Amino acid sequence: MGLDASVRCNCIQEGKARPHPFPGLLGFDEAGEPTLKGDRDTNLKLWLKHDKGYRDSCPHSGYLVEKRLGNTASVAYVRAFLANHSPNSFPLLLERVVSSGSHSGDWVAASDMPQLLTETRRLQGLTSDPLILQFTNDVVELGEASIATGNPIVF
Ligand SMILES: [Zn+2]
Repeated sequence: MGLDASVRCNCIQEGKARPHPFPGLLGFDEAGEPTLKGDRDTNLKLWLKHDKGYRDSCPHSGYLVEKRLGNTASVAYVRAFLANHSPNSFPLLLERVVSSGSHSGDWVAASDMPQLLTETRRLQGLTSDPLILQFTNDVVELGEASIATGNPIVF
């Protein structure tokens, strides 16, 4: 178990990727994840082609940035560091990023990135702890990709 985070690229939306196998069915859900319109359960074959088509469609395999932010223990370490320093200064990091070491299926919207980057850079300035610095470097990279694409950071 651990905390994984990613930001989608926009190659398909921008016409830079190989065409989707069923462009008329392609949609994007509220987290920016590519999805197929229609009944998911009866279209397993279409879904498998969709997944493969998406993976093969661009040099990023659909992801601009993918990071493992930590295992359960290292995420708990970051959370404790924030809580022990100045928890009120890091609401987004505490509540949406390191809230647990294994949350999944949720996201932080691109519109929240200015605040997330402010909190992350504040954290960077507090310590020379290599584990914290690695975490903050990864979050900054994810946040900058989110701003560049308009897509959320998805966990
Ligand atoms: Zn791409």
